[in-house]
Formats: sequence, structure tokens, C-alpha cells
Amino acid sequence: REVVGILALQGAFIEHQIALQRIPSARKIIVCPVRTPEVLARCDALIIPGGESTTIALLAKLAGLLEPLRQFSKSKPIWGTCAGAILLAQVVENTKRGGQEVLGGVSVTVARNGWGSQVESFEAPLTVSGLDNSEKPFTGVFIRAPVVLALHPHPDVPPIEVVARLPPGSIPASQTTQPQAGPDDPRIVVAVRQGKHLLTTFHPELTTDGRFHEYFVQNCIFSSHPI
Ligand code: GLN
Repeated sequence: REVVGILALQGAFIEHQIALQRIPSARKIIVCPVRTPEVLARCDALIIPGGESTTIALLAKLAGLLEPLRQFSKSKPIWGTCAGAILLAQVVENTKRGGQEVLGGVSVTVARNGWGSQVESFEAPLTVSGLDNSEKPFTGVFIRAPVVLALHPHPDVPPIEVVARLPPGSIPASQTTQPQAGPDDPRIVVAVRQGKHLLTTFHPELTTDGRFHEYFVQNCIFSSHPI
């Protein structure tokens, strides 16, 4: 069985653990909270939960996990949700003073808190591809979520596959950020897979719909994609 670590320094790590225990592939994995480099070294894949990206990065640094996490991202699958997506991005804008440590596993630029403040958090039905029952919308929960500002495809890195988008008109009019209706606006991209990494700007672990957890296990952990 593959050992799936969940970075358990801050944020919604318990929710990810519960979600993984409920999916069809649950018997193929062992779920393990990660707080030290020694435990990380025993993992075959990792989830970085939502929470507060600057805090998670700071705690990771204090635990001596930052460099081990960067090395991990070069050879093993990582899924980052919301704050975790910020940590997994290559470039982050709108950071706190002092900047934001990132792992850089996925070739995108994101803006922290890109949809606005806490009160502008929202839910939206997502258009997804590659999930089981793709025709059934997935409810995206966006809590002070990052926005994808740009995708950076390059011949030297695996292709970036867009897994979920916000359908036009699904964003409440109160949002600070209003993407253009055009399908080419990167700001409607809310989930991407690149190689064995998955980045979602929303929180699948805060719903009872386990399809993204199943997707990560099937398409990132048990997959032949290059890293
Ligand atoms: N705004 C948070 C951050 O920058 C992320 C919010 C979340 O994970 N729900 O870290």
C-alpha cells in the first residue's frame, strides 16, 4: 500500500484524512500525518491542506521540513489545496511582507487571497474533466482562495492539464475579482494537474464529495505520468 502523508502543521489536515478514508481506493493507501522530515521520508505522496500559507511555510521551516519538501516535490506526488496550492505554485503574488516560501512543483502563478477577503468567500459548481461522473458538477468551496493568474507551459516540464474551471457567471457579483467571460482567462482555472502534482485553489476536503481525493490517488499516485 502507498503511504499518503498529510502535512499536519496547520489547517484542514484532519478533513483530508477523513476524506481519504471514505474513497473507493482507501484500501490501497495508508494515511499518515506529517510533522517531521523523518515521517515525510516514509511517504510516497503528500497532501498540503488549506489553512494559512505563510503560517504553514513558517512552521515547515521551523520543523526543518522546507528543503525536504522541495526535494519531495521533485520525485513524488503532491496535492495542494488552497493554502497548499499557494505553497505548490512556482510564483506567488500578493504575499505578506517578507514574501512567501514556495515549493514550486506546479508551473503556475497564483495570487493569494485573489478573490477578496474572508467575507467574499463563496461556493460555485465547477466544470471538471477526468473525475468519475464528470457530468455531475463538483461544488468548489473557495475560502479566501488564491487565483490562478498564469499557466507557464514549457517544453522542459510536463504539460499542465486543466482539471476544473469556474463556469461563466458562477462567481458572485460581490467578488473583487471578476474574470472576463472568455475561456482563455486563467482566472477561471481552479484545478490543474502537472505530472504527478495536483493543485486545487478550493477545498474538496470540506465537502463530502470524495472525487478529487479519488482522482489524486488514481491519477497522481497510481499513475505512470512523469513527475
Ligand atoms: N488565504 C489563505 C492563504 O493565503 C488560504 C486560505 C485557505 O486555505 N482557505 O494562505
